[in-house]
Amino acid sequence: MSAPNVAVIGGGAAGSFAALALARAGCGVQLCERGAAPGEPDSAALDQPGQVSALRRRSVERLDALGALEPLREHLCPYTDLEFGDGSGSSFVHYTARESGLDALGQVVCNRALRWGLWCALREAGVALRPETPLRGLSQSGGRVHLELDSGGAEFDLVIGADGARSPVRLWAGIGACERPYRQSALSCRVRLSEPHGSTARQSFTEQGPLGLLPMAGGDRCAVIYSLDESHLAGLDPAGDARLIEEALSREFGLTAELLGSPPVRIPLWERRAGVRSRGRIGLIGEAFACVHPMAGLGLNLALDDGDTLAGELSLISAPDEVDSALRRWSMRRCSDHALLHGAVRALQLGFALDGPWAVWLRGAALRGFGQSPALRRWVQDWALGPHRGGAAAGNAER
Ligand SMILES: Cc1cc2nc3c(=O)[nH]c(=O)nc-3n(C[C@H](O)[C@H](O)[C@H](O)COP(=O)(O)OP(=O)(O)OC[C@H]3O[C@@H](n4cnc5c(N)ncnc54)[C@H](O)[C@@H]3O)c2cc1C
Repeated sequence: MSAPNVAVIGGGAAGSFAALALARAGCGVQLCERGAAPGEPDSAALDQPGQVSALRRRSVERLDALGALEPLREHLCPYTDLEFGDGSGSSFVHYTARESGLDALGQVVCNRALRWGLWCALREAGVALRPETPLRGLSQSGGRVHLELDSGGAEFDLVIGADGARSPVRLWAGIGACERPYRQSALSCRVRLSEPHGSTARQSFTEQGPLGLLPMAGGDRCAVIYSLDESHLAGLDPAGDARLIEEALSREFGLTAELLGSPPVRIPLWERRAGVRSRGRIGLIGEAFACVHPMAGLGLNLALDDGDTLAGELSLISAPDEVDSALRRWSMRRCSDHALLHGAVRALQLGFALDGPWAVWLRGAALRGFGQSPALRRWVQDWALGPHRGGAAAGNAER
């Protein structure tokens, strides 16, 4: 078989994983990243605000199988418990790894460290890495995609745009996207708790917006993601943002925390989804395809499932001219998870936007019912852990 030649544009977590999975599936892969190659992060860098991801169990297994976790073991933190509350202090849903007979539900990792681990594995896999190589334009004809790079032109059988939320690849491919602001910004920072975090990931749906606390390596360090309506942030300076976080951690979880690194950063939140997953020989992955509210904690997890499924489809073809049908199958297999996630986040947002005592009572009853229903608990667990046998990732593993 003559394997397709693939260019992945964007060396963030989603693009780096896709490049690695494609290379392991036998494709010739080149990864072009606008910025510098990621270096090994030191502990001071990890205390700085920046994206952190709760990787569900299935994602962890995939990354491990591809050799991306080996370099960064010390930066991983397992979470064994998941706790959800509605901010009133009365309703609580608690999942444990133990009830599923597991040692952990997943691992929390800082995206900086994850990218570094992925790039180490990409080097080992022989992927052609091109840091500081921004894509300047692209066009397609005759089943080939032509890239414009500073070093000149290059042609590929397939191009995967993993170039982030404002994806130039998406624009050049003529793929439109539906987008709407959540009218919230996420405050993101690192804290040290006055007590051990107990490997517990917590989320409270406060009146101001969802407050997430993810355990990190080190026993008492955590990442905070507090998504607030913009009206609550108006007029606040960085010290005011930090105060909001300290007060919320104490009110919602009874925890005392000391801010680490720089003051919290604000990340404006948008819902965005491309109209189609691929056009011709160009496909989209990661935030280039879809962005969803961080309260779901699943954006990157779904991107990893997408990369894994694409690699599985491409491993089945016997000639580069079968790339089109592989892309179509990939789009179809991966559309329901994204639609479900976007729908679930909208429903949650609507539910928590309702005000008044009856709304608080209704939410509490819904959360309690949710926590007590074995079928619903099982369904959430499936999402928290990742697809089981018969799912997309499992399907690839079995081929
Ligand atoms: C606050 C917050 C918390 C989150 N928490 C979680 C979580 O717990 N779990 C989870 O699964 N997901 C989570 N997510 C989502 C997750 O962080 C994203 O899905 C993920 O980081 C997206 O990665 P990406 O590689 O698609 O995009 P990016 O990280 O934006 O990477 C895009 C890359 O493309 C490069 N690029 C751009 N243009 C060009 C060009 N022209 N040429 C070459 N390169 C280019 C950029 O330099 C960049 O490196 C969270 C998101 C937020 C905002």
